[in-house]
Amino acid sequence: MSKSVTVVGAGAIGLSSAWELSQRGFKVTVIDKGVTGRGTSWAGAGILPPANLANSFDPIDRLRGLSHQLFPEWAAKLKIDTGIDPGLQRCGGLYLAETVGEIAAMSGMTEYWQEMEIECKQLTSDEITGQEAALACWWHNTDNAAVWHVPDEYQLRPPKYLSALKNACEQLGVTFFENTDVTDIRCRDGRAEIQYAGTWQTADNIVLTTGVWTGQIAASLDLKLSIVPVRGQMVLLKTSKPLIRNIINMGQRYVLAREDGHTLIGSNEEEIGFELGTTDEVLESLLEFATHLLPDLKSAERVKSWSGLRPMTFDGFPMIGPVPSVENLYVAAGHHRSGLHLSPGTAVLIANMLSGVTSRIPIDAFQIRKQKATKPFDPTPRHEQHSPN
Ligand SMILES: Cc1cc2nc3c(=O)[nH]c(=O)nc-3n(C[C@H](O)[C@H](O)[C@H](O)COP(=O)(O)OP(=O)(O)OC[C@H]3O[C@@H](n4cnc5c(N)ncnc54)[C@H](O)[C@@H]3O)c2cc1C
Repeated sequence: MSKSVTVVGAGAIGLSSAWELSQRGFKVTVIDKGVTGRGTSWAGAGILPPANLANSFDPIDRLRGLSHQLFPEWAAKLKIDTGIDPGLQRCGGLYLAETVGEIAAMSGMTEYWQEMEIECKQLTSDEITGQEAALACWWHNTDNAAVWHVPDEYQLRPPKYLSALKNACEQLGVTFFENTDVTDIRCRDGRAEIQYAGTWQTADNIVLTTGVWTGQIAASLDLKLSIVPVRGQMVLLKTSKPLIRNIINMGQRYVLAREDGHTLIGSNEEEIGFELGTTDEVLESLLEFATHLLPDLKSAERVKSWSGLRPMTFDGFPMIGPVPSVENLYVAAGHHRSGLHLSPGTAVLIANMLSGVTSRIPIDAFQIRKQKATKPFDPTPRHEQHSPN
């Protein structure tokens, strides 16, 4: 008989895990306190920066590399299986810098990419206007600016990706409970039980993919997950046709155009608890940023704005793994600014753990309660502890 898994939280991480698990023969139930795919994942831009699994060593770069490798395959399969196109496009990215600090930061970043053999090139004046004619005005009016081109950057349409994942899960028999709040977790004889709809339930395995809310739901298990909500705001504009092809990045802000002329401008970081909503001040600063780079956007129609809560962890690593001392409880949360990008890789790691399969990438850095879970310092060199892959 197939093993049962209850996935709590239907965002990019929960849905991708549910899809991967159901493809491996698990009997999966997904529970969400709201509507499927309407948490932080819905609010994301869908930028997938470059990554290279083959030449990366840092655990997060390995996870990013694995996800990056899987995405084209996943998007194609989702489109075939569901008829919903997640909008994955290898559109490329331009990285702009106009201050000494930004140029220094980008120089470091480009060196790091080159070490990972990620293609990246600083553009000449002609190449910049050749890549994006709409940037000509900014380029000619800004002293000491610099621009790098990264071809291996993708964009994705998050709402479509989430709809496709849900549809693909349903086709494989995944059961969904929406508007169902999991209100508590308890541990009985070393196994977790969750409370929802007024009753306590269990499953062979339970996976918490509750994003920014994970610390709240798991409080009773002494699971101090330290996930901090970081709000980000977005503005959507519309032009008759797309003004740009590449994603234009500068510092933490960006502008990207969808094929239908919708242009997305993001984003900022605010630590103000669990409060959603937008403010005139931030939206105006985003519009100012975008029109400074692309003056043609001044006449674009303003469509809407929204915000989302990024799940940030204290060390910048997501938490992916079993909860110590609880036999059947796993967490996959805390993906901060990269949860859409990291979703296929995270799903594979979770499915591997539940299937007893060793992952191709090291997972120690993602452990829950790392300090307690990790053995005391072992002076054996790292390459002798792990087999290379
Ligand atoms: C403005 C902005 C832009 C971003 N841009 C990008 C980007 O370009 N690329 C990228 O990779 N990432 C981006 N991100 C980050 C990305 O969106 C997140 O890392 C990702 O969405 C986290 O996914 P998740 O599935 O963990 O969380 P969520 O999508 O929030 O899913 C968690 C789900 O759990 C449910 N839930 C919570 N508590 C309970 C409970 N007690 N019972 C039942 N259900 C519960 C919630 O309702 C929710 O549906 C962006 C984020 C923001 C805010």
